[in-house]
Amino acid sequence: MVKRANGSKMYLENINKPAQDIILTNGRIIDPENKMDQSADIVLSDGVIKEIGTDLHTKYPNALTKDVSGMWVVPGLMDMHVHLREPGREDKETIATGTQAAAAGGFTSVACMPNTTPVLDEESKIRYVIQRGEACPCKIHPVGAITKNLDGEELAPFGEMVNSGARAVSDDGKAVAKSNIMRNALNYSKSFDIPVICHSEDSTLSYKGHMNEGLVSTRLGVRGVPVIAEDIGVMRDLLLAEYTGARIHVAHVSTAGAVRLIRAAKKRGVRVTVETCPHYITLTDEDVGLYDTNKKMNPPLRTALDRDAVIEGLCDGTIDVIASDHAPHNSEEKDVEFDAAAFGVVGLETSLGVVITALVKKGLLTPSQMVEKMALNPNKILSLTGGNLSTGAAADLTVIDPELKWHVDPQSFYSKSKNTAFDGMELQGAAVMTVLDGRIVYERSS
Ligand SMILES: [Zn+2]
Ligand SMILES: [Zn+2]
Repeated sequence: MVKRANGSKMYLENINKPAQDIILTNGRIIDPENKMDQSADIVLSDGVIKEIGTDLHTKYPNALTKDVSGMWVVPGLMDMHVHLREPGREDKETIATGTQAAAAGGFTSVACMPNTTPVLDEESKIRYVIQRGEACPCKIHPVGAITKNLDGEELAPFGEMVNSGARAVSDDGKAVAKSNIMRNALNYSKSFDIPVICHSEDSTLSYKGHMNEGLVSTRLGVRGVPVIAEDIGVMRDLLLAEYTGARIHVAHVSTAGAVRLIRAAKKRGVRVTVETCPHYITLTDEDVGLYDTNKKMNPPLRTALDRDAVIEGLCDGTIDVIASDHAPHNSEEKDVEFDAAAFGVVGLETSLGVVITALVKKGLLTPSQMVEKMALNPNKILSLTGGNLSTGAAADLTVIDPELKWHVDPQSFYSKSKNTAFDGMELQGAAVMTVLDGRIVYERSS
């Protein structure tokens, strides 16, 4: 058992034990796939969901009973965009610590990006990640590279990566600059029915920029990344998806222009899904303050106008998914001058609290819509069976206390890196229990 100062506990020893019968009583069961939002008991047995109903505790007298009155019981959350840094940068994060951070954040599965050292661009490397993830408190679905070594030139072997367990391909961290290479990748991806996850950016326009280009960057004297760099990148990828008929998933949307382009593309039937991240719905370039490197990410924090457009895109269904883009960096790469600092922030342990605080508590998203964007849709996009509480499905679920108020304290993170954009912020709502294949892997006691 791994215990933290805030009283939370990670039950790593449970992962290899046989699953015990568990009954969670009187929770609010929220399962958009089965159109369920009601108070009930849920029984987990042999690692699967056995039954949902009322007064079930008399029927299963030997089950471990947990009273979850006042809590939401939801399908295990999925974060489809994280960086776990292993192999290569185990000083920042490992598959073990990253999956503990995920479990503590309420996630039972994650998709991890291939920009590791070496890059996940062939069968053996995909297999390595899957094997390292086997005894971890969260399921891992690797994303393979689009191009070998992310060099944007030669396509990686999609077929062998998919056969060994890759669920998508992406060169995340940078855009595939050459349109002909992207076109070939999209055509190639159709044979495997996998999405191409696009880090959409015109890198000739974002070149050497460190934050959003605008009034704030001018005031601070920092070279900016204009919104048009993202808008043109998204537009190109949408047009290529439409032309080839392939399926794309646009990562971390941050601009009003990109939301507008995607909304129009969806209307004319382009096969596109979209994600944004908790920081783009809550923060703006004003929050960079005086060169706060924990507010430096790619794409950068934009203006209030962009933030509001992204929220609107979530509310009207243009944006399907909320993912964290969890990007751990150590202090040597963040406690430096702004221009020299690495891009990216951690997010696994704050994502749920930020979304409940900024969207659900404000009535912008219902709890059920939140579950769609943080559990159901990511599973569907990656052709996985999770994200629902159907009878017989794997007992992967998250118990959420929607009222719990807490302050973000990076020192209590399970993640090896502490580079959060939400340091000290008061949030409402947190995962209090995470169950993986019928085993309790995480419990929060404070
Ligand atoms: Zn990216
Ligand atoms: Zn990323």
